[in-house]
Amino acid sequence: MSDEVTYDGAAEARVITGTAVETAPDMAGGCHSGAEMEKAARMAGQSELLDQYARDYPKGPHDQPQSMCPAFGSLRVGLRMKRVATVLSGSACCVYGLTFVSHFYGARRSVGYVPFNSETLVTGKLFEDIRESVHEMADPDRFDAIVVTNLCVPTASGVPLRLLPSEINGVRIVGIDVPGFGIPTHAEAKDVLAGAMLSYARKEVMAGPVAAPAGGKSDRPTVTLLGEMFPADPMMIGAMLAPLGLAAGPVVPCREWRELYAALDCGAVAAIHPFYTAAIREFEAAGRPIVGSAPVGHDGTAAWLAGIGDAFGLSADRVAAAQNAFLPAIKGALANAPIKGTITLSGYEGSELLVARLLIESGANVPYVGTACPKTPWSAADADWLSSKGVKVKFRASLEDDCAAMEAVQPDLAIGTTPVVQKAKAKGIPSLYFTNLISARPLMGPAGAGSLAEVVNAAMGNKARMDSMRDFFAGVGEGDTAGIWEGSPNLRPDFRAQHQKKLDKQARAAKAQEMI
Ligand code: SF4
Repeated sequence: MSDEVTYDGAAEARVITGTAVETAPDMAGGCHSGAEMEKAARMAGQSELLDQYARDYPKGPHDQPQSMCPAFGSLRVGLRMKRVATVLSGSACCVYGLTFVSHFYGARRSVGYVPFNSETLVTGKLFEDIRESVHEMADPDRFDAIVVTNLCVPTASGVPLRLLPSEINGVRIVGIDVPGFGIPTHAEAKDVLAGAMLSYARKEVMAGPVAAPAGGKSDRPTVTLLGEMFPADPMMIGAMLAPLGLAAGPVVPCREWRELYAALDCGAVAAIHPFYTAAIREFEAAGRPIVGSAPVGHDGTAAWLAGIGDAFGLSADRVAAAQNAFLPAIKGALANAPIKGTITLSGYEGSELLVARLLIESGANVPYVGTACPKTPWSAADADWLSSKGVKVKFRASLEDDCAAMEAVQPDLAIGTTPVVQKAKAKGIPSLYFTNLISARPLMGPAGAGSLAEVVNAAMGNKARMDSMRDFFAGVGEGDTAGIWEGSPNLRPDFRAQHQKKLDKQARAAKAQEMI
């Protein structure tokens, strides 16, 4: 008999023991935990959400983030909107990285963060903390909406943002899950938030009158533009729509909540960037036709104006008048800014195919285009056009695909993401960052034709400089022999072999575990 003082007989109750049915997934590895996070999310009841993401953002070889965290896409969309607050819920290291990058890219606003630990995560206290924070922040004088984003771990744990109130004091609450294991690229994460906001706004429109656009309503039918563009591009598109009796509507992702209503109130949607699947679902639900591709170069502009004419049921004469007003100018601009040389192109912005069209019409030889985005019906015309010119178009291209193409082609210029550019430079191949140097230029209509020649030709002219740099640095070592050594690099192939043995053993153990 124990002499422990007890209040009731609970301490005497027999404890039922047994074996766990399933091992709890290991989420400690973050982005590197492979399928474990997805498994955890499914166990936490998130299967429906993940299945929808799998349909919207079909995976290919590039099924895990190979660049920045996908949530950066949706975070940036929220941060660029007026009177919208953004709150992240995720591991501190993820939030640190995301806030760092967003401020690096000039976000002038704070990013909210609701921290958690394993206890608040498993007891449901994290959800209570999120709810408390949105109640505290919901000040209608400051905000139209608050966006709360679950990153990987809270998504995998099933933190139920859908249970947040949809509105507090007139401030809309939008909760989204943006896990790296469900959203392959940061481009598609932009769609997650754009789609969620459009869905919210569409319900508001259906429920009653909504705010009019700040600049007033256009007296002509509008075309909503889908995808972030160089600021002059929507103006150029507007000029090309004018002879058709149309006007350019808002650009989605929007900069202000009320623009969402104006975006839905269009005559057609131009899917300039083709990966906005969830946003397109909302436009289709509102009965809006979608036009793929974009007015880039001569052929692209001719086909796009015809597509817009079809969507609005305009006469062939009217479309021909618009084409005649702009196509000669585009042809002239392309001829005045020729590009001679072989270029490989890759990126994750979604505009890679459009840029390739422009380069080819400028005279460049482009044997390979890789995009991290998936194939969708709205990029089909661009892919077909490029294939007809002999271009290998790779959707959901992985970094390995892009690097292999660059190494095999040995182009005069490699346009790509940071690691592709880095690799090309190490080989003495001139290269340009797609995001900073190509995306930040006009592409549409006469203003876009010829806009790439200056930067592209200048980069290709740098071949001699790249060669001399490569020769200068040759022999300083790379990989584990890089850096400054007082003597010869301290190579230990025996350590390497020993470590490899350890890895092989772990792999064998994991394989054996799978079979049990
Ligand atoms: S939230 Fe982003 S950084 Fe964090 S684990 Fe997921 S993909 Fe990686």
